[in-house]
Amino acid sequence: MQPGWYDLEADLVVVGFGAAGAAAAIEAASAGADVVVLDRFCGGGASKASGGVVYAGGGTAIQRQAGVSDSPEDMYRYLSMEVGDAVSAATLRRFCAESAGMIEWLAAQGVPFEASLCPDKTSYPSNRHYLYYSGSERCGPFAEAATPAPRGHRARGKGTSGAVLYDALARSARRSGVRVHPQTSAGSLILDEDGRVTGVECTTMAAAPHWARLAHRLLSRYATKPGLYVPALGRALHRRAARLEQRHGRPLRVAARAGVLLAAGGFVANREMMRSHAPGYRGGLPLGTAGDDGSGIRLGVRAGGSTAKMDRVSAWRFVTPPSALIEGLLVDRHGRRVCDESRYGAAIGEAMITRHDGRAWLLIDSRILAAARRQLRGPALWFQRMQGWYLLSTARVTAHSLDELAARAGIDANGLRATVREYHDALAAGEPDPVGKSVARRIDRPPYSLIDCSIRPNLGYPCPMLTLGGLVVDEDTGAVLRDDGGHVPGLYAAGRSAVGVCSNSYVSGLSLADCVFSGRRAGAHAITDLNIEGSESHAHRVRSR
Ligand SMILES: Cc1cc2nc3c(=O)[nH]c(=O)nc-3n(C[C@H](O)[C@H](O)[C@H](O)COP(=O)(O)OP(=O)(O)OC[C@H]3O[C@@H](n4cnc5c(N)ncnc54)[C@H](O)[C@@H]3O)c2cc1C
Repeated sequence: MQPGWYDLEADLVVVGFGAAGAAAAIEAASAGADVVVLDRFCGGGASKASGGVVYAGGGTAIQRQAGVSDSPEDMYRYLSMEVGDAVSAATLRRFCAESAGMIEWLAAQGVPFEASLCPDKTSYPSNRHYLYYSGSERCGPFAEAATPAPRGHRARGKGTSGAVLYDALARSARRSGVRVHPQTSAGSLILDEDGRVTGVECTTMAAAPHWARLAHRLLSRYATKPGLYVPALGRALHRRAARLEQRHGRPLRVAARAGVLLAAGGFVANREMMRSHAPGYRGGLPLGTAGDDGSGIRLGVRAGGSTAKMDRVSAWRFVTPPSALIEGLLVDRHGRRVCDESRYGAAIGEAMITRHDGRAWLLIDSRILAAARRQLRGPALWFQRMQGWYLLSTARVTAHSLDELAARAGIDANGLRATVREYHDALAAGEPDPVGKSVARRIDRPPYSLIDCSIRPNLGYPCPMLTLGGLVVDEDTGAVLRDDGGHVPGLYAAGRSAVGVCSNSYVSGLSLADCVFSGRRAGAHAITDLNIEGSESHAHRVRSR
C-alpha cells in the first residue's frame, strides 16, 4: 500500500450501509477491526424503507413468549421446500439453527420485537401485532411436511417499521466505532498485481458546499419515500441528486487492509439489468431505492466474481387483506386456476408471471364480498386499505351468472364454469381442493364478482418486485467466488448484492434475515487474517477513543 496514495485506510471497507452492511460492520468492529462504511446516500437503503419483518424461528424468545412452539427442524423442513437449492442444505440448517440467536443478537443491538400474535392471514400485520405467519406455512403440502409456526418477527414500531430496525443497527455500528462516510459512492475496486482487492475508488460529496449536501440528502430521502410508491417521482428526484454528485463529487481513495465487503443492495432500479436478466418481470413497482442499481454486483463482477440467480425476482401479488378473499378462486384468462390463493403473495406473483402471462382474476360471490367489506373496516395500514378498496371497487366486475361475469371480464366462460364445477365436485366428494387450498367453501351465492389482479403499472394495486440474485459467495465465509470456484482475494459480499437463502424465493422477512445472517458471516470472516491486538487498526481505535 503506497503511503499518501490513499485518503483513508481501514481494515475492512464496507460498501453500502443497509441491513447487510450494518450487520457486517458491527460484527467486524466488535471483533476489534477498524471499519469504514461508505454509502452513496445517507444509509438505510431498502432496509430502512422496508416493513422491518425478519423471518426467524426454531424457538425464538418472542415465539416462546407468545406461546408458540417451533423447532429448527420444522423451520428447516418448511424453508427447504420454499427456497430449494438457493443455498446448500448445510447452510440452510445453520441458518435455522442460528435463527433464535439472530433475534437475540438483533435485540441486543436495540431492535425491539414483541410477542403479540396476529390472528388473521395478512400480507403485513397492523400496529397491534408483531408476530405472524409471514409465509405459506399453513398451506397444504407445507403444513404436511412441517408443523407450521408464525416466524414473521416485525420490529416494533408504527407503520412499516424497517426504519426502527435499521436505525438501531446504524446506532449500534457507530457505537462500535465504525466510521460511516455518507454521500460517498464506490465507483471501482482497486486490485493489486495479484488480483487481490485492496481498496475502493469513490466519489464523495464530503467537500461539497453545505447546500449541495443538504439538497442531495433531501432529494435522495424523498426519492425513496414517497418515490417508492410513485416511481416516476422517485426517478425525477434521483436524477437531480445524481446531477449534484456529478457537479460536486470529489474523488476519494480508501485502502482496505483486510478486504472490501459489498453490501450495496440489488438491481431492481436498473432497467437495463432488469431487461437483460429478468425480462418477464415487467409492470411491477421496483421495491428498493435508487441505490439498487446493481453497482455492488457489477463492482464484484469486474473484480472477477461470478453471479447466479440473476433471473430470480420476487413479485408480490397479495390478495389479502381482507382475508376473506382467500376463499375466492384465482383464474387466468382461460378460466383455469392459477394456484392456492392462501399462499404467500410472492408465490402467487410467481405463478401468475411464469405460467399465466401475469394476468389473473379472483372469483368471489356475494358472501365473500360482504365478509371482505366488513373486514376492510378493521385494523389495517394505509396501503392495505388502498389495496382493499381498489380490489372491491375499481378492479371488480359483477354479474348474476358465471357466463355473464366471464364475458364482462373478458375471460373464457367455459373454462371458468369447468373450474368452478371441479372445485365444487371436490368439496362435495370430501376430497382436497384441486390446488391444495385448505380453506375451501362453496362459491354459489350470486351476484358473483371477478376482481382483476393482473400485473401492470397501477397506483391502486401495484405489484412490488425485488431482485434476489447476485454475486456467488463461499457459504462458509461470504468470500466472493470466481466462475472456477476460487476466491477473489480480499472481496466479500452480503445481502442482496449476493446469492443467499432467499435467492430462489422470498417469504416476508427472509431478505432481512438473510442480510443479517450473511452480513455477520462476511464481516466476521473478512477480518480473520488480521492480528487485531497488535495491528495498526487496533492502535488507531484505541487512540481515537
Ligand atoms: C417497501 C419495502 C418493504 C420491504 N419489506 C421487507 C420486509 O419486511 N422483510 C424483508 O425481509 N425484506 C423486505 N424488503 C426487502 C428488503 O428490505 C431488502 O431486500 C433488504 O433490505 C436489502 O438489504 P441490503 O442491505 O442488501 O441493501 P440495502 O438496504 O438497499 O442497502 C444498500 C445500501 O447500499 C448503498 N449503495 C448502493 N450502491 C452503492 C455504491 N456504489 N456505493 C456506496 N453505497 C452504495 C445504498 O445507498 C444503500 O443504502 C422490503 C423492501 C421494500 C423496499
